[in-house]
Parts: sequence; C-alpha cells; structure tokens
Amino acid sequence: MENKIWHGLGVSAGHAAGPTWYLKGFQAETAGETSQVSSIEEERVRLQQAVLRTEQNLTGLEEKVRAEQGEEVAQIFVAHKLLLSDPSFIGEAYQRLEKGQLNAEQVLREVAGEAVQMLQSLEDPYFQERAVDVQDVLGQLLKNLQNVQDDVSDLFPQSGNYIVLADELTPAQTIALPKDRVLGFIVRQGGKTSHAAILARTYGIPALVGVTDGWGDLTAQKWLELDGEEGWVQSSAENQVIFANTDAGDEVISGENSLLQGMILAANIGSPGDLSLVRKFKAQGIGLYRTEFLFMGEELPSEEDQLEAYRQVIDDCSPHLTVIRTLDIGGDKKAPALNLPQEKNPFLGVRALRFTLRRPELFRQQLRAIWRASAAGPTAVMFPMIATPEELEEAKENLWAAREEVLQAGYEIGGLQVGMMIEIPSAAWLADKLASLVDFFSIGTNDLTQYMLAADRENPELAELNQPYHPAVLGMIARVSQASLKKGIWTGICGEAGGDPLLAPFFKAVGIKELSMAPGSLAKVRTALGKMEMSLEEQETLVKSVLACARTSEVIKVLQSSKTS
Ligand code: PEP
Ligand code: MG
Repeated sequence: MENKIWHGLGVSAGHAAGPTWYLKGFQAETAGETSQVSSIEEERVRLQQAVLRTEQNLTGLEEKVRAEQGEEVAQIFVAHKLLLSDPSFIGEAYQRLEKGQLNAEQVLREVAGEAVQMLQSLEDPYFQERAVDVQDVLGQLLKNLQNVQDDVSDLFPQSGNYIVLADELTPAQTIALPKDRVLGFIVRQGGKTSHAAILARTYGIPALVGVTDGWGDLTAQKWLELDGEEGWVQSSAENQVIFANTDAGDEVISGENSLLQGMILAANIGSPGDLSLVRKFKAQGIGLYRTEFLFMGEELPSEEDQLEAYRQVIDDCSPHLTVIRTLDIGGDKKAPALNLPQEKNPFLGVRALRFTLRRPELFRQQLRAIWRASAAGPTAVMFPMIATPEELEEAKENLWAAREEVLQAGYEIGGLQVGMMIEIPSAAWLADKLASLVDFFSIGTNDLTQYMLAADRENPELAELNQPYHPAVLGMIARVSQASLKKGIWTGICGEAGGDPLLAPFFKAVGIKELSMAPGSLAKVRTALGKMEMSLEEQETLVKSVLACARTSEVIKVLQSSKTS
C-alpha cells in the first residue's frame, strides 16, 4: 500500500514516528447557543464565575511555566490575564448582558468576534497574533461557562509515547501535556509564530501546523511519521519504529578534525527558569541571557531582584561563561512599566542601548547588579544595538562608574568580559575599529538581517526576503569575524541563525568561536558539526563559494552540497 502524505508548515525541526493521539477541538462556535437567558442577574453571575475560574487557571499555569520554562513562556499567560480585565472585552460583555437578549456565551462570542476581526484587520503582525490570544481566552471562558472538563493531562493516555494531533492547541494545553511522552505535534491551525509552535521549539519537539487539506482523513490514521523541518506527515505501517530524533546530539561522532572541535555551543535564555533546558540539552554556557523579560511585568525589578536572577544563572552555569545582555527593550518588546515613547518606527527608534543611555539611573542599577552577580562565576556583559563607537564608549563609562559604586558599597565582584552585539550594519562595518574597545563580539543575526535587507523581522509577508542566507549578510559576518581574529578577540553568533545546522559549517569556517541558540536546537547543531570532517582548505573553499554568490538561493545550494559532500 502506498503511503499517503499531507503537507503543512514545519515549525519545529525534528523527525518522529509513532502512534497517534487525537485531541478534538472544543466547539466554541456553538457552545451555549440554544440555552435561554434566564435572568440578567443570573447571566451576570455566570459570567463573573467563569472569569474568576479562568483567571485562577491562568495564574496556576503562569506560575507553573515561570518556574519550569521561564519568563518568555509565562508572558503568554500574563497577556491572557490582561484580557480578562480589558474593558473593551469583558467590560463590554457585561454591558451587553444588561440588554437581556443574549446569554453569557453569546455575548462573549459576539464581543470576541468583533475584537478578532478588528485585530486581524490591522497590518501589524503583532496585533494579528493577539487575535489568537482573544480566541484562546474566549475558548477557556466558554468551557468554564459550560463546565467542560478538558484537562488534557487527564485525557492523554497514561502510558506510551504519541504523536499528538489537534484541531487547535492552546498554550494551556501544550503546557499540560507530558512532553517527555509527546513524539510530535500536528496542529490543524496556526502559523510559525503561533504559541504552540513557539512552545514546540522551546521543548525541542518536532511540529507541523496549518495542515488543513485532508485533515479528517489524517486524524483517522493510527500511526504516522512526520518531519517538522520539511513540513510533511505520512501514514506508515504500525510496526514502524517509534522515535523522535530531537535528542540526537548524544550520538555525535566527533573525530579529531570534526567541525565541532574548538566551537562552543551555548544557549540563549530569557530567565533562570530556562536553566533546566540548558542542562537538558547540555549547553556549554549561556551565549545570550535576554534580561528584558525581567522588565516586562507591571513593576520594575529592584537591584536585588536583578542580582538574584543573574546570580542564579551564573552560579548554575559555572564553570561555563554566562553572557548577560543589558536591557534590550523597544522594537517588538513592550514594557508597560517603562513608559516607552510611542514611535512611528519602533525598530528604528529609541531601542535597547539607545534607551538605557537615556535612563542612566536604570542602566547603572542593572550594571551594578551584574557586577555584584559576577562574583558567582565566569560572567560577561554585552551591549545591544550599538551603531557607533561613541555609544559603546558611553556604555563603558557607565559600566566603570557602576563598578566604582559597587566597590564603594563594599560588595565583592568578579572579573567581567565586556562585549558588544553586532546587529546594526554600521557597527559591523566598523568591526576592526570597535574590536579594540571590547573583549568579544556577538552577532545578532535577527536584527543584522532585518537592518541589512530593510525587511521587518516580524512581517510574514517578507519572510522570503528576511533570510540570513543572503550573501551580503554572510559576507558581513565573515568580515566581522576575521576583523575580530586579527585584533585577538572572539566572535560568537546569538541570533536564530546560530541554531541553524546548515549554516554552522560556514560559521566555523569563518572563525566563529561560539554558536548560541534556543536550547532545543543544540542537539541538531552538535550532530551536524560533530559528523562533519573538513580540512582547512575545504573550509576555505566553502567560504569562497558562499561569498561568490549573488543570490540567497545559490548560497543555500552551496551550503546543502557541502553538507552531503
Ligand atoms: C538578534 O537580533 O539576533 C538577537 C539575538 O537579539 P534579539 O533577537 O533579542 O533582538
Ligand atoms: Mg537583536
């Protein structure tokens, strides 16, 4: 019998095969459709109770994921809770109940439907994604109104490993599943930036979303094989071996000349909560600790709060190096407590270091906390979004002033490597000049790509253009790395491209010393480099061939052929 095949969008790389388990969607469109409005008062109480229960559930989830997965994931639930106190959502629903014509379910559906339509009509992809949040919260409210028990941790089979098929997968459901027994995710709805996709990548579970064609037939399959990179799923015989290859990093074959030699594979994290993943995927340090998540809550962290977080990470990561990045707020990262200015082009505005240099008291406080934490183990600090040497110098003046303050106050400090991010083309171009001012460079390929190609990194319409494989981006990276080596400092990569196994041999060949990535990507990069033997001449040829290209498509071909040669 021929295997049937379905296609979707691969959102979390990896390959898996095994038995399926189907999570049917809750019918939010029709819940409570037929029940009558008994009294306005009663509907009001029902709504109140549903909001309360939803809020309690969300708080429980938020705390659980903050401890287990870190701040980035916890923020999903913070955003959901904010919706519950949003006057234009729940407030509006209460008002409409007063008319006495609709019940709580109908009112919620109406208000949420309008909000979703409005958000989807806005061009900014940030707001379009918020429409998904509204739908998530609506679903939970309706379930609570209907007393639907759908705790997936109860529904999921008690033993065995499965590929999970789901009409939709909310963050709450994803969190509740026992991830060590989930081989893969196949979700009918959602895109690359849907929360389920982000979570799958965080956990390193292969996933495919947006499989709309032939969904009914697919859910009837008992055994499937999927590829979360290429975006396909196929039926397979039931005696196929069960596997998910995301832990393949353990099987690394690392010979004398393998590309893994001399390359540090580190992790990017957003909070101490991510440390369990750092250990699980065996990172050799933290190449990027994004501190902005500490500042995204309703209240700003104190110096002591920061000290505690930084110290925990450094201590846990020791004897490896922890690179702490100073606050990179602005752009796509919002922080209500910081009162950021409204800007027409936030990615080109007062972001990151541009912001902290304008708020020296806040900047100094963070730098003091970093100095104090440095006593706990090997630490580095780096500054984001530098465009000119003057900015770097001003940042360093603050750093030394903070050191003085800490010493004056009698605190113990450790040594600190001082680095800067290379993510603005002007800084990349000046790498040879800037190299004498720092101990290391860390290339932020996400921003470097968006600024070199003038293509918003958040805009799905420009995804094709916004590619680190563009020869100009790779040429710039090669130039920066070579300039740093000449001046005796090291360069790492900490943007998403750092976790791309296809690019890893090129990065090694241009002299990059550290690749820092989402913990879930470590295994595949380790395997790719560990399996590859390349002489210095072959590495030189690879670099020359890449840099001879004019087109992204040609670069991809060159990289692919070096992988198989
Ligand atoms: C980058 O720009 O590549 C980077 C690592 O920083 P962020 O993604 O936090 O902007
Ligand atoms: Mg950046």
